[in-house]
Amino acid sequence: MDTTTRLDRKYVWHPFTQEATAPIPISIQQAKGIYLYDVQGNAYKDMISSWWVNLHGHAHPKLVKALHQQSATLDHVVFAGFTHEPAVALCERLSAILPDMLCKFFFSDNGSTSVEVALKIAYQYWYNKGEERSRFIALEGGYHGDTLGAMSVGANSVYHNVFRKLFFPVKFIPYPEFLYGENDLTIDEEEELVIKKLDAFLDKYGEETVALIIEPCIQGASGMRVCRPQFLNRIISRVRRYNIIVIFDEVLTGFGRTGPLFALEHLDEIPDIICLSKGITGGMLPLGLTVTTQTIYEAFLGTNTDSAFLHGHSYTANPITCAVATESFNLLTSKKCIEQRKIIEEVHKACIFDLYESRIGIYAPRVLGTIGAFRLGKAKKQQYQMPYGIECREKALQQGIIIRPIGNTVYFIPPYSITAEELYDAYDILQVIIQEMKIYEEKL
Ligand SMILES: *Cc1c(COP(=O)(O)O)cnc(C)c1O
Repeated sequence: MDTTTRLDRKYVWHPFTQEATAPIPISIQQAKGIYLYDVQGNAYKDMISSWWVNLHGHAHPKLVKALHQQSATLDHVVFAGFTHEPAVALCERLSAILPDMLCKFFFSDNGSTSVEVALKIAYQYWYNKGEERSRFIALEGGYHGDTLGAMSVGANSVYHNVFRKLFFPVKFIPYPEFLYGENDLTIDEEEELVIKKLDAFLDKYGEETVALIIEPCIQGASGMRVCRPQFLNRIISRVRRYNIIVIFDEVLTGFGRTGPLFALEHLDEIPDIICLSKGITGGMLPLGLTVTTQTIYEAFLGTNTDSAFLHGHSYTANPITCAVATESFNLLTSKKCIEQRKIIEEVHKACIFDLYESRIGIYAPRVLGTIGAFRLGKAKKQQYQMPYGIECREKALQQGIIIRPIGNTVYFIPPYSITAEELYDAYDILQVIIQEMKIYEEKL
């Protein structure tokens, strides 16, 4: 064991980890582009963008430079009563491409807090208006982060069972996941049923409901589950009849992950609030943003602090983070990056549907922008950890490929800087691994 790993075992408690049984963590010393290097000098392809945050590859020189320059100019300043150029520059850049309605930016420092802020703003909006509303609507399987409010609206995901009793009331409606090759014929009916359930709820409680929160187009943490955009358009137009606030959690889907810059571009309906984080700084520093409409913002204006939004974090709008985010956005909107995202989508499509056709035990193939996913084995019901997923992950790691299957769902969500060859290679390795697993022999 190298020194870092030894000290790690002495001191560190890792996220999402059963410390008693987890393998010893790999000590990473360096990262460049899509590669991570451990202390022994082994290279790994980062096929999950370091938990979905990295966009342009590790240690991108432009981001490194922005970080250096900004840290030497203005490292940090309290954001109440003060402002600075890096923060407003970032807002200006984002506002230019977001729908016009989304124009007020509230800073925090991670995805969970961006959601927490959205939920609190939505709740207080009605409070300030003098309307008593306290219910929320969310979709089954949605994941919105690990703080208490975010967990409440994600209570139906596989992660938060322990804390159930602490949650505020949320109405969960079923998520009509689209499974290619499995429910093509019944998906219309499935969606119709959910709409009926929603209508029944709205009929009773629509006027008491604060907000609807969704992960647009794809539920990430519950296993890269896609639904049809027309379904989301329909539920949104339903809740709008009751003036319910619509929140899009774009923490995963933002910044090009699903193809366009934001997943809301796949939909006709525009949300009142969006939550951003993960890719916002290209994966270099933590930052959260909650963006709202002018109408919502104005409900907090008044002559005393009671109506103000009394929420903030110590590192709100850290200038270094903002400067890196703006630089990352410059890269993201370059012709080259747009082209790279198209290529990734094409390679995903070619490879995943090839794998599917080859009948080696792959089901429900799906590609949404730079995200490519499929299920190993026939079993539809998924848990956080499942045998095929674990086996595939371990074998891939031995071949220098980092993946983190969710249950038996395997996915690639690579940095945009990956080349077509590198991505094809990763799929080739995956194909051999899956063939060796002989999943095709399973009977169910
Ligand atoms: C990851 C994620 C979050 C939580 O973000 P953190 O930065 O991990 O707190 C919230 N919502 C979605 C959709 C996510 O994928």
